[in-house]
Amino acid sequence: MGSALSCRVATLLLGQDKRQRVRATQVLLTLLLDAVLAAIAGVGVWLGMLEGRLAWLWVVFSLGGVLIFYALVRSGLNQRWFESDPALTLPQGVFSVFSTVGAYLMCGPVRGASMLALAVTLSFGMFALKLRQVVGLSLFAVLLLGFAMAGAHRLWPQRYPAEEEVMHFLLMAVLLPSIAVLAGQLSTLRHKLRMHRVELEQALEQNRQLAIRDELTGLHNRRHVLELMQLEAQRAERSGRPLCLALIDIDHFKRVNDQHGHAQGDEVLRAFAACASVALRDTDTLGRWGGEEFIVMLPETPADAAMGVLSRVHRQTAELRFEAFDATLRVSFSAGIAVVQPGETLAAAIERADQAMYAAKQAGRDRSVLAKPPSPPRVAPMRQAVPSSAP
Ligand code: GH3
Ligand code: MG
Ligand code: MG
Repeated sequence: MGSALSCRVATLLLGQDKRQRVRATQVLLTLLLDAVLAAIAGVGVWLGMLEGRLAWLWVVFSLGGVLIFYALVRSGLNQRWFESDPALTLPQGVFSVFSTVGAYLMCGPVRGASMLALAVTLSFGMFALKLRQVVGLSLFAVLLLGFAMAGAHRLWPQRYPAEEEVMHFLLMAVLLPSIAVLAGQLSTLRHKLRMHRVELEQALEQNRQLAIRDELTGLHNRRHVLELMQLEAQRAERSGRPLCLALIDIDHFKRVNDQHGHAQGDEVLRAFAACASVALRDTDTLGRWGGEEFIVMLPETPADAAMGVLSRVHRQTAELRFEAFDATLRVSFSAGIAVVQPGETLAAAIERADQAMYAAKQAGRDRSVLAKPPSPPRVAPMRQAVPSSAP
């Protein structure tokens, strides 16, 4: 129950979208950090080191700003308004620079410590910003800090003596760009790693496709189509719905090779595969069984519907034309269809489909023949008990 409640609270705070949750979490962490810094500022005011009015101004500015970023993420506006940087890393970085320079002015005698926060801000850049952006952000921070220091010295020369400001400025002018370059290099490294991961995923997918696809036609290969049929057969066994298999063999294909060459034969195989894929329904699966033979799996299809689907494939195959090498060439096929029987193995059903296909060839080709159901297992006749007639 506890985990269900924490799940609901997390969904309420972070939303449901995985990426947006990561972004909302990062903004909330910044909010938490700022809340802790606000508490420290409170202690500073209590100790009399910071001026209460200035500290309040800073707390409202920094927490208010982060809350606006949180609202942008939770409302999804970050994805619409900042398409190239939906994590809002750059806007948050710029805001953070303003907030930290504000903290510098507010912190009086302990302002040196606030400069650390600028380093933290730039370090965040390594997660999303490019090298160019982090360096730009650091230069912007140095410039803004320089202006703030000069202004503060002019307005309150006692509190902001020139020597201290110059020393602070020089330190930041050296340290911030160095941190930025480091953060930028890490960001480049992360980017490279991400690219490698994407390439690896693409290579894996390519490998998977090579393992399950037939190179010539792009159809499922024999091994994969067998796996798919195995799964479908189990499903049909459970649901009791009919499953049909059809073995297809192109007629007189050897002649195509002999008359036009192997490359043209390949072209015919490709054209047939594309044509049959279009003619079949989305739920049917077509695979290359080998050579000029193909197999179709028709789930949840009774025999008459399978015959209907196959006649559509016959019709569309007859319309195939090969203007490039022989405008008169006509392609046809013979097919054997078997309805997988309850309890029957896939191998047995394929064997029946093969026999039906052979029957289609015998009957003159260019047709589909429905396989006979398997003959029931023969039961051995009971031996008649011979009455013993003892002499
Ligand atoms: P039938 O009507 O009895 O099926 O006659 P057929 O000529 O189609 O059958 P046969 O088994 O005699 O010949 C099949 C031919 O298919 C022989 C083989 O060279 C050719 N073949 C098998 N695989 C490929 C292939 O990938 N590309 C090409 N171009 N030809 C192939
Ligand atoms: Mg053949
Ligand atoms: Mg053939």
